[in-house]
Amino acid sequence: MPDQIASSINAALSDIQVRIFRACESVNRDPAKVTLVAVSKNFSVDHINRAYDLGHRHFGESKWQELETKVHQLPKDINWHFIGKLQSNKAKRVAELVNTIHTIESERQLKEIAKQDRTIDGFIQVNIASEQQKSGILMQDLDKVLLNVLKCNQVRFRGLMTIGPEVSDPEESRNYFRELAMLNRKIGGTHLSMGMSGDFEVAIQEGATHIRVGSAIFGNR
Ligand SMILES: *Cc1c(COP(=O)(O)O)cnc(C)c1O
Repeated sequence: MPDQIASSINAALSDIQVRIFRACESVNRDPAKVTLVAVSKNFSVDHINRAYDLGHRHFGESKWQELETKVHQLPKDINWHFIGKLQSNKAKRVAELVNTIHTIESERQLKEIAKQDRTIDGFIQVNIASEQQKSGILMQDLDKVLLNVLKCNQVRFRGLMTIGPEVSDPEESRNYFRELAMLNRKIGGTHLSMGMSGDFEVAIQEGATHIRVGSAIFGNR
C-alpha cells in the first residue's frame, strides 16, 4: 500500500480523535465512553491493517460476505461491528463473526441469532424520522421488538441505533438524535449508536456512545 494512504489514515484518525475529544468537552462527557467504529465497508484489508497498526480495534462492516472474508484475513483481536441490513437467513452467520450487531429489527433475525451459542451485544435500529424505504423499526413497534430482544439469551441488549436523515447541516440531525436518546433512556438502553462522518459531533453532544465513521477515516468510497 502506498505510504500516502497510510499517512492519510493516520492523519484522519488523529483528527477525528481530537474532534471526539472536543465534542465531549463541550458537553462534559468522558471521551473514553465514546467508541469510534471505523466503517471499513468497500475498503481493502490493507486499509484495515493500516488502521490496526495504528492501534485501532473497532471496525464496522455492512455486508455479511465482505465481513466473513475480512474476518478470516485479519487479526483475531479485532472488535467487529455489523452495521448493515441484516437478512434473517444470514443472521446466525453474522452473529458467529461479530461482537456487536447494530441493526436488529425483527423477531426472525433474533430466532436465527439464537441458533448459535455466542452472546453478542445488540442495538435495535430505529427509523427515527419515519423515512420511507429506510431500515429500522418505527417507534410504535419498539416495545414489541425490545421484548423479543430481551428474551433472546444470545443478545446483550445495549440500546438503540439510528442512521440520521441526510441533511446538509448536521444541526438538522440534532432533534432526531435527541429524540432517540430520550427514547433510549426511557427503555433502559445504556449505549447509543448514532452519528457518522457528517454528524458525529452533534451525535456525541446528544449522547452517542458508538459513532460509525467511514469516509472521514478512509476517504470516499
Ligand atoms: C456506511 C455507513 C456508515 C459510515 O458512513 P460515512 O458517512 O462514510 O461515515 C455509518 N453507518 C452505517 C449504518 C453505514 O452504512
